[in-house]
Amino acid sequence: MKCRICGRRTTIKSRTYNLPLCEEHFIEFFEKRVKKAINSFHMFDKNSRILVAVSGGKDSLTAWEVLRNLGYEVDGLHVRLGIGDYTKLSYEKSFEFAKKRNLRLIVVDLKDYLGMDLPDLPKNLRRRICGICGMAKRYITNRVAIELSYDVLVTGHNLDDEVSVLLGNMLHWNMEYIHRQSPVLRKTHEKFVKKVKPLVFVGNDDVDMYARLKEIDFVEENCPFSKGATSKVYSEIFKILDEKQPGIKPIFLMGFYRVKDRFKDGDVKLNSCKICGYPTTDEICSFCKLKIKLNDDEKN
Ligand code: AMP
Ligand code: ZN
Ligand code: ZN
Repeated sequence: MKCRICGRRTTIKSRTYNLPLCEEHFIEFFEKRVKKAINSFHMFDKNSRILVAVSGGKDSLTAWEVLRNLGYEVDGLHVRLGIGDYTKLSYEKSFEFAKKRNLRLIVVDLKDYLGMDLPDLPKNLRRRICGICGMAKRYITNRVAIELSYDVLVTGHNLDDEVSVLLGNMLHWNMEYIHRQSPVLRKTHEKFVKKVKPLVFVGNDDVDMYARLKEIDFVEENCPFSKGATSKVYSEIFKILDEKQPGIKPIFLMGFYRVKDRFKDGDVKLNSCKICGYPTTDEICSFCKLKIKLNDDEKN
């Protein structure tokens, strides 16, 4: 293969965009895709107070690395989930990454918010552990960002995550979720921090390559409670599609972002949770409901 830009021989390519590139031009291409996402969706600028939620995995650490290389000042936030060795490793990778680069990492424990670690959830809730974990992470990262006055919270979701979610929502024609799917969630409540996904224009393979070239040491293991089979099925479907039509994933996702504004405005009205004051579409937020349920269970 030859680099599409300089013609040098190369063994690497952007798989997502089916584009052979030498190392130098791959890095340039990757950073340009991220910059394009940041600018076209008005995610943040050099004066914003930016916080990235880091799991210790390849996506979130790469998001931190690339933003730093683009000249943004970004702090990290790691939530310790209390899942044994997996949490220990996730924390260590996040910690080492920050230390090596002299960056500020905020660390909080889920237990301090929920009153227990995830594996200690009562039996009746344990089978929903992934959903509960996701909800709790969203609640805690939002809350910490608000309490510490950050302007924006970054997550490591990439193009592959987004196309899978989009396909899932389209298969069910879940219009509410389709309206809401966006690389930017605006601040629509005083206690809802703006959320952004700067990696939406780069895919899994690209993130992997960038992480390797930049020598980022990340957790490779999946969470022992790892998500069910559905998202894996969608990845398989896109793998087959991509073999037949290389580069189809960015075409699908970017096309969606272009036409999506033709649908009605997707903002939902957010109320303040009667218990904690943080945003919810209901009267009491899902996190507080979970805590009530846990307290009730304890009494019984
Ligand atoms: P996941 O739901 O595990 O695919 O994670 C999606 C995004 O949430 C990641 O890219 C991170 O930005 C963030 N995230 C996941 N786990 C944690 C964690 N333990 N602490 C902080 N942020 C996290
Ligand atoms: Zn080149
Ligand atoms: Zn609440």
